[in-house]
Amino acid sequence: MLTYSYRIKDSGPSAVALGAAARSVNMVWNFCNETQKIALSRLSARAIERQGKVVWIPNFLSAYEFHPLLKGSGKELGLHSQTVQAIAEEFATRRKQFKKRWLRWRSNRKSLGWIPFKASGIKVLGDVIQYCGHTFRFWNSRPIEGAIRSGSFSQDSRGRWYINITTDHVATAVKAEPGDVGIDLGLKTLATCSNGKKFGAARYLRKFSRKLSLAQKDGKSKRVKSLNAKIKNSRNDLSHKISNELTRDHQLVVIGNVSSSKLVKTRMAKSVLDAGWSQLRTFLKYKAIARECMYMEVSEHLTSQTCSCCKTRSPAGAPKGVKGLGIREWVCGVCGAVHDRDVNAALNILRIGHDSLGLK
Ligand SMILES: [Zn+2]
Repeated sequence: MLTYSYRIKDSGPSAVALGAAARSVNMVWNFCNETQKIALSRLSARAIERQGKVVWIPNFLSAYEFHPLLKGSGKELGLHSQTVQAIAEEFATRRKQFKKRWLRWRSNRKSLGWIPFKASGIKVLGDVIQYCGHTFRFWNSRPIEGAIRSGSFSQDSRGRWYINITTDHVATAVKAEPGDVGIDLGLKTLATCSNGKKFGAARYLRKFSRKLSLAQKDGKSKRVKSLNAKIKNSRNDLSHKISNELTRDHQLVVIGNVSSSKLVKTRMAKSVLDAGWSQLRTFLKYKAIARECMYMEVSEHLTSQTCSCCKTRSPAGAPKGVKGLGIREWVCGVCGAVHDRDVNAALNILRIGHDSLGLK
């Protein structure tokens, strides 16, 4: 399954129509929520027969039980009937996933717009999407391959609308391009690319984090505030710079899903690093969408101790575990390749990305 995202040309009537549909979606969602709440208050558990025995289960409603209650509401609300069903399905799935009795209400003011649909609900023709009698134009940055399964209209925090389309396409036709890049996120260097390029010493983040914990210990709230602002600003600058450059110059950006917990000891350094890394990922993601660049996150497990030349896992010489964190350069005991630790990891990350897209 592959999901495409396109920016919708959402000026004027398009934004109005999407906004109205999003409010209807909220109404359906809140109806499901309220129905679930009432159901539990009237009957907390119900008996079902399982393998000849009567068992009691909590009175949670399934998507199929919502469907008859919602029948016909689509027409009144200006939503496709499949959209109404998709909302109920999403509600039931989320409730189960979060193990909640009911979920948060969707608010017209606070919730970001979201309108799910199924394949039969939309028609895509060139750079035009038809949904429920409305026509929306979008920037068709890359052709949609495969059959459309489902998707959604969604809004970002700046109020911009996107269309997300999931297809059953397996990306085999795409060729790996020399311009594809893998990225390893690290402590010494914030981001190291598979082509050898390095961005931003993460040192400054750690320096700030030390100052910050000192200021917090001394209870200097003004200094804490100004340090937090400084960290935020320099983090913003760096993330914008890196993500701009990478999405401008490459067609595919693959990044590791590293978390700081394995790498640093103090909680302060962890939170500072994590915020930096997750911001960089977020920026890469939304810039990639806007720039016809494909973005992908892969598991970075073992990427720093696998030789990117001969693909041997943990050969002699490879940095292993916490002890190996200090090793910056190493020689593969199997093929003799000399590796920069971070570049080697980035190369492995790119390879995992190519593998999972079925690219050679
Ligand atoms: Zn090797």
